[in-house]
Amino acid sequence: MIQLRNLNKVYKGAQGEFHAVKDLNLDIREDDFYGIMGLSGAGKSTLIRMINRLEEPTSGEIVVNGENILEYSEGKLREFRKKTGMIFQHFNLLQSRTVEGNVAFALEVAGWDKKKIPERVEELLNLVELGDKARSYPAQLSGGQKQRVAIARALANNPKILLSDEATSALDPKTTKSILELLKNLQEKLGLTIVLITHQMEVIRSACNRAAIMDRGEVVEVGKVEEVFANP
Ligand code: ADP
Ligand code: ADP
Repeated sequence: MIQLRNLNKVYKGAQGEFHAVKDLNLDIREDDFYGIMGLSGAGKSTLIRMINRLEEPTSGEIVVNGENILEYSEGKLREFRKKTGMIFQHFNLLQSRTVEGNVAFALEVAGWDKKKIPERVEELLNLVELGDKARSYPAQLSGGQKQRVAIARALANNPKILLSDEATSALDPKTTKSILELLKNLQEKLGLTIVLITHQMEVIRSACNRAAIMDRGEVVEVGKVEEVFANP
C-alpha cells in the first residue's frame, strides 16, 4: 500500500550536498507493522518524513494506495496528512493545554464540528487508556502517559497510516514495552499501517512483522523480522 520507488534525498547546504537517502525501494503492506532500523545518521528520519511529505524527496516516487502523493495538490495533501498520524521521541505536546486540550486541538485544526469534539476526545483517551488523566497537564504525566496523549492526538482524524519517529527512545524498557503493546492493539483494532523507525533492535523484534535495515542512506537488509534478525 506504500511503495517507495527510487527515492532520493539530497540536502543542499553551505557545506555542499549530502545524499541522505539513496535510490531507496520499499514495499509496505496494509497490515504491516514495519520497522526501519539503523544507526544515527542512516537516513531513517529523512525517510519517514518523506512519507507524509514533511520532507520533499529530491527524486523518486511515493505511491500510497495507487496514487503518487508527490503529485498531490495542496488540498489533496492536506486530506492525506489528516489520514497519516505521526508520533515523535519528545512527544511534541502543548504544555499550556491539558491532555484533553491537546487532543481537542488536533480536531479543531482539522475542522471538526465543535459540538462533536468532547465525545471524540473521550473516545480517543479511552482508546489509549488515559481517560482518568483528561484534566492533567503534560508536565504532570510520566513519559509513557505523554506518549499515550500523543498517540491519541495522532489518531484523532481516523488515520490509515501511523508513522513513529523514535517514539519509544525516550522511555525506559518497561514503558517501551507497554507503548509497543498499545500500538499493536491499536493496529489490530483500527486496521492501521504502522511504520516505525528506531535505532533499537529490541523495539523491532518485539513489535514489527517486517523490517528494513538502513546504512548511510541505503537499505541493506529487508524482509520478515525473523529472517532479518535470524541468528547466523
Ligand atoms: P537518522 O534518522 O537515521 O538519524 P537522518 O535522516 O536524521 O538520519 O539524517 C541522515 C543524514 O542527513 C545525516 O547525516 C544528517 O546530518 C543529514 N541531514 C538531515 N537533515 C538535514 C538537513 N536539513 N540538512 C542537511 N543535512 C541533513
Ligand atoms: P473522509 O474525509 O475520508 O470522509 P473524515 O476524516 O472526514 O473522512 O471522517 C472520518 C470520521 O471522522 C467520520 O466517521 C466522521 O464522523 C468523523 N469526522 C471527520 N470530520 C468531522 C467533523 N468535522 N465533524 C464531525 N465528525 C467528523
